[in-house]
Amino acid sequence: MFDAYALRAQFPLLARTPALIYLDNAATTQKPLQVLDAERHFYETANANVHRGSHRLAVAATDAFENARSSVAHFLNARSSNEIVFTRGATEAINLVAHSWGAANLQAGDEILLSTLEHHANIVPWQMLATRCGAVIKPIQLLRDGSLDLEHFHSLLSNKTKLVGLTHISNAIGSELPIAELINSAHHYGAKVLVDGAQAVAHKIIDVQALNADFYVFSSHKAYGPTGIGALWARSEILSSMPPWQGGGEMIERVSFSQTSYAEAPARFEAGTPAIAQTIGFAAALDWLQAQDRVAIAQHEHLLRLQLELGLSQIEGIRLIGNALQKGPVVSMAFTHAHPYDVAQFLDAREIAVRVGNHCAQPLLASLGLSGTLRASFAAYNTHNDIDTLLAALSETLELLA
Ligand code: PMP
Repeated sequence: MFDAYALRAQFPLLARTPALIYLDNAATTQKPLQVLDAERHFYETANANVHRGSHRLAVAATDAFENARSSVAHFLNARSSNEIVFTRGATEAINLVAHSWGAANLQAGDEILLSTLEHHANIVPWQMLATRCGAVIKPIQLLRDGSLDLEHFHSLLSNKTKLVGLTHISNAIGSELPIAELINSAHHYGAKVLVDGAQAVAHKIIDVQALNADFYVFSSHKAYGPTGIGALWARSEILSSMPPWQGGGEMIERVSFSQTSYAEAPARFEAGTPAIAQTIGFAAALDWLQAQDRVAIAQHEHLLRLQLELGLSQIEGIRLIGNALQKGPVVSMAFTHAHPYDVAQFLDAREIAVRVGNHCAQPLLASLGLSGTLRASFAAYNTHNDIDTLLAALSETLELLA
């Protein structure tokens, strides 16, 4: 039997009183002691710059850093750790792909398909690329329940499609896309697929080989790790064909004033001193997550979502936004007579942390005819008591605001 309370005890911030009901996990998760300790341990025992020193501390730092790359590769079931590029997060990883692969492979008239669910991070870099090269962006519509309109997706696919950008799980309304199936269809047309896994990695077991994606990106901080670090996974043949993006130290083979040659991937894409301690914390978070019963966590988070959705259906004046059959642990709602910001303020006064707004998904919200929602999103340490408390507070708040 999964024990969320036992897990919770590993998170110092959740131990405070009065108890914090933290339901903003899609924005960022709290961090377990194992992650905090890993960063501190690095600074206390092995702090040095990586890849450049001849002294033993530098060797220890480099080993720890490269071991972290292996942890990420293992977590995603990548073929090799050379397929992992460290970035600042999902956003930087998508910008890297758009700048490097996109600029080398897209021309005027080529098409980029993006689901209407996408976070701005998986829209704006492609728009910037399209403006530079004359490519065209085509949004893939949703069905009324917030799932992807598969018919529309198939009707948009053609030999002009070069890239399909898909979120694995929507941060705004929770819809989970049938990624493997969509990738398969896109590959029929020779298109590459970038999967934004920012909201998936903490909740699902990810196997990039089984998914057969081309690019998979995510951020450490939404999966119990530190901020400022994340990863791009790309198939090695694609990664090794990509031109460099940022220039600087560490990404080169030889530099002269007349000519520079570049290092192999992944070093080619990691200019400058990386976020070393955060990378070690990132790996500690993934190792921590993999040591948990992930199937039990997914089931627990699923039950929390069902509990909240059922409870919401019994409160007048609340509408669930997004009721796709396949969803991650994200529940968005709108209110008939109250503004989500006002509701969130009342919740905050009761130590309940949720998110309100457009969740960096303005095209999605516009397609739903909304300017914002209130979102509760779960992690492994949330409890059924958290949901009961939220439901009671929502009822009380709506009565007060009526
Ligand atoms: N994609 C999705 C689906 C997200 O939820 C987020 C973060 N809200 C991002 C991309 C961007 O992640 P980051 O800000 O960590 O780069």
